[in-house]
Amino acid sequence: TSPSQNRVPEEYNTRPKTELDMLQRRANATFVMLARNSDLDMAVRSIRRMEDRFNTRHHYPYVLLNDEPFTDEFKRRVSAVVSSEVQYGQVPREHWVQPEWIDEDRATKGRDQLVAENVIYGGSVSYRNMCRFNSGFFFRHPLMQNYRWYWRIEPDVHFHCDINFDPFLFMQDREKVYGFTITMYEFDKTIPTLWGHVKDFIRLHPEYVAKDNAMNFMSDDGGETYNRCHFWSNFEIADMNFWRGPAYTDFFEYLDSKGGFYYERWGDAPVHSIAAGIFARKDQIQFFEEIGYEHNPYTHCPKDPVMWERGRCGCNPEGSFDYDGYSCMRQWDRLMGN
Ligand code: GDP
Ligand code: MN
Repeated sequence: TSPSQNRVPEEYNTRPKTELDMLQRRANATFVMLARNSDLDMAVRSIRRMEDRFNTRHHYPYVLLNDEPFTDEFKRRVSAVVSSEVQYGQVPREHWVQPEWIDEDRATKGRDQLVAENVIYGGSVSYRNMCRFNSGFFFRHPLMQNYRWYWRIEPDVHFHCDINFDPFLFMQDREKVYGFTITMYEFDKTIPTLWGHVKDFIRLHPEYVAKDNAMNFMSDDGGETYNRCHFWSNFEIADMNFWRGPAYTDFFEYLDSKGGFYYERWGDAPVHSIAAGIFARKDQIQFFEEIGYEHNPYTHCPKDPVMWERGRCGCNPEGSFDYDGYSCMRQWDRLMGN
């Protein structure tokens, strides 16, 4: 038999784009994934999972970014699994590499120290480039300029439940700026001086501090010290107007000028979280309980049985990270009065 004899004819196709699909209200939103060419198999899996659980009903586009050019093979494999458009971009060098003005001796000493202390990625410069890029530059990439909202995904993450609503529209309608699924403690060795700089910045710019902010999620003593709670930024749904606005622009520039992305190992997770926690109202931050999500080694699985069933979740709610000893959901509940 020839291949064409094995093919079910086109007239049996049950997946045409319906009129309803076309009329659906949509947000000005995109998925964004930073990846290396070597991440190909895992990038495809994440995107396919997102399609299956959400995007075949919404057709939001994807932006894939890389510090190197994506290979043709990469583009072919990714584009094959999506129901929408994908754009592939290269990160401009000046948004990626360690800036000239960083004191390399001091940066080397910082890396050596974290290696000696067995801190994960302690010796990696590329990891630091990535964290700085995700903190201050991804939303400035030319391909991201067309969009206001983004949903960050990473290679080899899982979406365990049907997502039966549009989180972008939900956030837009309610003036949310930042959505998360997992929150935990940051390693103190990666951010020894970060909170001191945050406090200095607040003193310089009290006008940026939001009323009813989430400071008490991040601090147990009214802002004096950082309890290291942050949102895990490998999953983010957020409003880029917030990152592009004056408060975050000045905040990032201020932190960047201190060199801590290289002298220490500041992550984009604490940087984003602290900014959302101070410059936004607490009710502008959304915990997406119904979005089952896994990034090794942690899973958020909806505990509410109705939510879990409605989402046809494939995860085990008993294994959810929410009230694990290393989770910060307790601090979140305290803040929200739950
Ligand atoms: P972890 O989640 O903190 O363990 O860090 P990952 O290794 O998952 O990196 C976070 C994200 O940045 C993932 O989407 C990676 O694909 C991406 N990433 C990390 N390092 C690089 C890099 O050097 N180049 C590119 N293009 N992407 C990177
Ligand atoms: Mn990751």
